[in-house]
Amino acid sequence: MTKEKKGGKLIVFSAPSGSGKTTIVRHLLRNDDLNLEFSVSATSRSPRGKEVHGKDYYFLSLHDFKHKMKNEEFLEWEEVYRDNFYGTLHSEIERIWAMGKNVIFDIDVVGGLRIKKKYPERTLAVFIKPPSVEELKIRLKKRSTESEEKINMRIAKASVEMATAPRFDFIILNDTLEHALEEAERLVAEHIAKPIFKDVSEEE
Ligand code: 5GP
Repeated sequence: MTKEKKGGKLIVFSAPSGSGKTTIVRHLLRNDDLNLEFSVSATSRSPRGKEVHGKDYYFLSLHDFKHKMKNEEFLEWEEVYRDNFYGTLHSEIERIWAMGKNVIFDIDVVGGLRIKKKYPERTLAVFIKPPSVEELKIRLKKRSTESEEKINMRIAKASVEMATAPRFDFIILNDTLEHALEEAERLVAEHIAKPIFKDVSEEE
């Protein structure tokens, strides 16, 4: 990064799946004042429901994903579930910054914290906390796009993820969606209004 551009901020929303973070991220994307563009992750999992390649994810074969890992094409990657890899391509961030926009991520807690570590100044890292693990179970079952086994895998992972919440810049409790949306909007607006200082990890 040599030149300062309009935009250029990174906004990370991480949470156990079913916490409502995708709803919050979609809401923020509709607010033009925030100048946000969604970071489309790459994944080796298969598309679910109406998911579209290049919009929801870049759906790659396991072979292609591993090839890109080897080539160091990822800013971060994670084996979120066994054989299900997810990651952020450097090319995706560059694409969005070239548009003069801020990048918003809907990613796993480990990936979120990695981005924060790489770009500590540019990144706002927010953890969305579900009211309880019980509530999370209900939400995931209602979504019913997955098998019982997969849902149980996600719930087991949720407890581990909850423990990372204090490492984020802010925690939003998603008890009522309206409150969570307001809080998210305020935090993002404050972050993008700040001037950009070059992050230590960006020094060549
Ligand atoms: P899902 O299969 O429900 O779309 O996503 C599963 C998990 O992978 C979610 O917690 C989601 O946030 C996470 N995830 C999606 N994209 C990325 C990414 O680029 N990097 C990492 N580390 N996690 C991701």
